[in-house]
Amino acid sequence: MKFNIIIISIFAFFAFDSISAQNNFLLNRFSERISFIRMDSIHTSQATIIEYPDFLSIIELPFIDEGGNMSKNLHEDSVKAEEFIRFLDKTYNGKPVKYILHSHWHLHSLSGITPFFKRNVTLFTARSNWQYSINNGFLSNTDISSFTNRIEFVEKDTTILSNTEFPIHILHLDISYRFKPTKEYLLFYFPQNKSLHASCLCAVSENELQRKGGIYHDRLTDMRRAIESRSLDVDTIIKLGRYDQQKGTYLPPYFLFAPIRELMDNAKPYFSLIKQIADIDTLILLEKKDSLLTAAITKKIAPSLFNQAVYECIRVGEYNKAIILAHFLNLYYPGDLAYIDTMGEAYYVAGDMKTATYYDSLIKRKDPKFTGGLQVWAQNRKDK
Ligand SMILES: [Zn+2]
Repeated sequence: MKFNIIIISIFAFFAFDSISAQNNFLLNRFSERISFIRMDSIHTSQATIIEYPDFLSIIELPFIDEGGNMSKNLHEDSVKAEEFIRFLDKTYNGKPVKYILHSHWHLHSLSGITPFFKRNVTLFTARSNWQYSINNGFLSNTDISSFTNRIEFVEKDTTILSNTEFPIHILHLDISYRFKPTKEYLLFYFPQNKSLHASCLCAVSENELQRKGGIYHDRLTDMRRAIESRSLDVDTIIKLGRYDQQKGTYLPPYFLFAPIRELMDNAKPYFSLIKQIADIDTLILLEKKDSLLTAAITKKIAPSLFNQAVYECIRVGEYNKAIILAHFLNLYYPGDLAYIDTMGEAYYVAGDMKTATYYDSLIKRKDPKFTGGLQVWAQNRKDK
């Protein structure tokens, strides 16, 4: 099982001076032009509204606050979307929404688009994200044929609204960015106020920034690369949601980029731990298995690190080592279906179909609903 699920706990209460509540929506002004709107007080994600003289553009529509953990049976909340439009009408004196921009297929990025399509709003999305949503049930009850001309697929870096005082650069992150949560990902850069709207690519917390050192999330590697490879002048990073982890209070969802850079310069990426395991010599893996097992148990190494090391071996074409590491993983953490799936996939990529099929049927016997097995392994090969 390839992806690890990151579950973010939700804090129920907040206290922030400049927030005003109307209906369930909570508006928080960031700058003269930009505001954040949360869907309710327990929501950690928000829509970002950019106001122009005659219209609005919106980044992210998180009517349902779910990330990669909800990857099947996707759906929208069009009732909430309609309420949201009414709230916008009231707050912005009837200014129409012109563009919706969203970063990736998670529901906290897009979960209510039909009411906007009906009002002739244009959606900017990446093709594989839109396709993933549609293939996995999003809008399954809606005839989308009349809306397809309302969609702009972003395939490379693109600037929109360049004839206004506040253009938006859409940055297209392709498959060469390895750590982002979805196959394609869009970032939104506002050159006028040197801000980058990074949503959940900005995977950093208050605590991590205060702690300094240790390990940082690999998504930051992609984010920094996107900025530096384009020589963008970035002061501020806007993320999808932010709160004080100790107090459980809401905070405005942005960080300065400088302390994030400082953290990255003084800490190690999570990937370096995975690489360390993937680089263990095959002979050692085979001959010193028992002492490695003792070391893993003593040091309480997360089994997910070994799991990701298997996929790193697959990525670089070391299929034999991937199998050996997958064996070790299932010895260290026996009985977990996700890890049996990993072992099956290692055999699959190595071309041993007989063994791969055996593990596929074993998984299906244990849990017929498990998302994995031959079909997913074949898809992963195609996506690589
Ligand atoms: Zn996400």
